[in-house]
Amino acid sequence: MEDCIFCKIVKGDIPCSKVYEDEHVIAFLDIAPASKGHTLVVPKEHYEIIPDVPNALLEKIIDVVKKVGNALLKENDGFNVMQNNKKAAEQLVPHVHFHVIPRNNEDGLDVAKWESSKYKEGEIEEFQAKLKENIG
Ligand code: 5GP
Ligand code: ZN
Repeated sequence: MEDCIFCKIVKGDIPCSKVYEDEHVIAFLDIAPASKGHTLVVPKEHYEIIPDVPNALLEKIIDVVKKVGNALLKENDGFNVMQNNKKAAEQLVPHVHFHVIPRNNEDGLDVAKWESSKYKEGEIEEFQAKLKENIG
């Protein structure tokens, strides 16, 4: 879909720190992460919200959410999965996606109201490489 930032990322028109890709799904690091390693799992085909997505594709997306979650558990104590539908629910990018957010004991993160942190120079590449390796 034209003018969709995630469609542009899928096409390669906008760069991303990709950690996983298959025929139907791509996963890349969020540029404004709730915590470092925060990953977005996105179907390549454009759908706006969860009810629009065919169940067979949803299963493929969840499969990647599981892969990313397992990978994050190699470096973190836990993870949250968040998924927003429509502006009223804080959906800023109208291309359906799942947030997979690394959590650690006592990290104090309020995922309902998180403030984004910033990667230092070169740090996003380190997180990308580690996560790619852990996804396998
Ligand atoms: P939403 O609020 O729609 O559930 O989440 C959208 C997410 O996409 C936000 O966490 C935001 O930081 C992330 N995001 C927006 N634009 C880009 C981009 O161009 N690249 C990447 N990697 N993440 C983006
Ligand atoms: Zn799109």
